[in-house]
Amino acid sequence: MSTNLQTPIDYLKGVGPNRADLLRSELGIHTYQDLINLFPNRYLDRTQYYKINQLERNSAEVQIIGKITGFKEIAQNRGKRLVARFQDDTSSMELVWFRGQKWIKENVKLNVPYVIFGKVNWFNGLFSLPHPEMELLSSHEQNLRSAMQPVYPSTEKLSNKGVTNKVLNTIMQNLFLETNGRFVETLPSGILSELKLLSKSEALLNIHFPKQQDLLARAEFRLKFEELFYIQIQLILKNLIHKSKIKGFNFDSVGTYFNTFYKHHLPFDLTNAQKRVLKEIRQDLGSNAQMNRLLQGDVGSGKTIVAFMSMLMALDNNFQACLMAPTEILAIQHYQGLSELAEKMDISIALLTGSSNRSQRKIIHADLESGALHILIGTHALLEDKVKFQNLGLAIIDEQHRFGVAQRSKLWAKNTIPPHVLVMTATPIPRTLAMSVYGDLDISVIDELPPGRQKIKTVHRFDKNRLKVMRFMRDEIEKGRQIYIVYPLIQESEKMDYKDLMDGYESIVREFPQPKYQISIVHGQMKPADKDYEMQRFVNAQTQIMVATTVIEVGVNVPNASVMIIESAERFGLSQLHQLRGRVGRGAEQSYCILMTGHKLSQDSKVRLETMTRTSDGFEIAEVDLKLRGPGDIMGTQQSGVLHLKIADVIKDKDILQSSRFYAKRILSADPTLVHPDHKVVLQTYRALGKYKNIWNYIS
Ligand code: ADP
Ligand code: MG
Repeated sequence: MSTNLQTPIDYLKGVGPNRADLLRSELGIHTYQDLINLFPNRYLDRTQYYKINQLERNSAEVQIIGKITGFKEIAQNRGKRLVARFQDDTSSMELVWFRGQKWIKENVKLNVPYVIFGKVNWFNGLFSLPHPEMELLSSHEQNLRSAMQPVYPSTEKLSNKGVTNKVLNTIMQNLFLETNGRFVETLPSGILSELKLLSKSEALLNIHFPKQQDLLARAEFRLKFEELFYIQIQLILKNLIHKSKIKGFNFDSVGTYFNTFYKHHLPFDLTNAQKRVLKEIRQDLGSNAQMNRLLQGDVGSGKTIVAFMSMLMALDNNFQACLMAPTEILAIQHYQGLSELAEKMDISIALLTGSSNRSQRKIIHADLESGALHILIGTHALLEDKVKFQNLGLAIIDEQHRFGVAQRSKLWAKNTIPPHVLVMTATPIPRTLAMSVYGDLDISVIDELPPGRQKIKTVHRFDKNRLKVMRFMRDEIEKGRQIYIVYPLIQESEKMDYKDLMDGYESIVREFPQPKYQISIVHGQMKPADKDYEMQRFVNAQTQIMVATTVIEVGVNVPNASVMIIESAERFGLSQLHQLRGRVGRGAEQSYCILMTGHKLSQDSKVRLETMTRTSDGFEIAEVDLKLRGPGDIMGTQQSGVLHLKIADVIKDKDILQSSRFYAKRILSADPTLVHPDHKVVLQTYRALGKYKNIWNYIS
């Protein structure tokens, strides 16, 4: 190939220094290559011509053939507008210019057929088209313009300075002329033929100058595949390099603790999903490489026992283990739960939180260093410098999104060889997205709930039905159940939310008077110790109602609580609603979730409420959430590259993502260092990756 695609854009015919500056500053286009990878946002169908009498008030962009019969100038607030009467054989309409009027008057010919193009308005009983694109019919017919006309990304500044879509089209044409439309192939030939993909050159030609719909579709497919494929190559290689570079402890024996527990103390049969996940963890732990695994499982899916049994594997190999939770309450619950599981075995477990006193700490520190303590459970307190393990082999982190990556690696710093790390989360991330976001972590999923769970009955109620809801609450309390009432807490309007919460609390206190009823309240403005006290009263069933803001969202386990009432439910995100609902349905009783809202609901709110009442599948809910919000708001996506894709969309193109991951994996498992001649293009492309921020800067 003769043309170097790294040539600065200034050198391209039709660009020049001014346009080059604009292209750089507005679209980040510095080189030929940047321009070739400026993909159209959409395409206009220019095969259709409209008659003026066919126009409708909500017509989109239209193309009309007709003649200008005259101009008039109309004064307006500031300056004037130029109006032309435009006529075809059916009717007439107006064309309007607010700028560039002199040029139009001097250059546009009267009574000669033009093709005009643009978006029509309905104004003063007449159709009008402001700033139409115009071309003489005679030259329009000579042009070998493609039927689908690309619309490129643009900015206001670009179009104001005359770099219109048409100009972009023209310079793109010039680029193809100069390069003869030949571009280096960047996918291995094996994949091209197996998937019948267009070649690189064909794909680029058809993305910019599509002749037919089906070729455009194939061009899009190939370019999306390529983009996702190289992200996957990058992630999988990162993971492989991590594994080969970061040695881990090899837990080669499954020993007494694990076997004894499995044979004699397992409180229930494990679900198949739990068994599968344990096997995956077991494999990691015996592999000589450090485990770095994300365990996803919906609320109540039984992650705790998996965590505990993984800890037993560490103990069997004479290592210590720790479990870090985001709140004190959760840490206490884990401590109680794991102590129960470990009861009949000779295992020492301790709890370390901000509230642990000096003498408790002293003992814990000493026992940790001597190795007398096997398992340490706690909060951030685990990260303090004084906490030194004799040999930490496994670190488990619950509810991952509350801890940053930096905090996580602080745990590692406690050893010369980093411990295996298992991160547990109940925030379901659709698998496809997880692959592109956490592709460098290994992922296990518990996708099955323990048997015998009753579905939580979820209903949507309007505020005016509050009396009925109160009656229902009374009945449930009569039966011995406990109830959560949750209010939204959004940063911007903290004061108003606080007022809502307090008003709600007072009306609840009125409806449920002491001493018959006891009510807890927990909100963000309370001191941690007061929060814990109130929470603990609810956990111990000293109170029947818990009025709270979303501070209770994470992990609390009160099996006797069977009703979750969410106030102003329309203000919560889907995943948050799902998390909140997960606080109930933990015991044997039928549980309920009541979503309270006012009457006015946005379309999105309606979808959220409908989704909640329809399904309790966390992954399905996450998919809907993702569609509503886009990946930008999902935890963890901010740091990853998925938001900066140029042509693919991790949600809409999840099938392509899956396929690209399959091929990336297949290539790398057969040839991890990409030395095979067939994979040379992959290696070259991957190597260039480090040099550029954006994938499309090195592809092609
Ligand atoms: P989460 O994944 O939300 O942390 P937990 O580990 O707290 O879930 O488990 C929720 C409840 O389900 C606990 O009471 C636990 O004892 C119970 N449980 C877990 N696994 C099973 C199982 N295989 N069979 C029956 N009950 C189970
Ligand atoms: Mg849990």
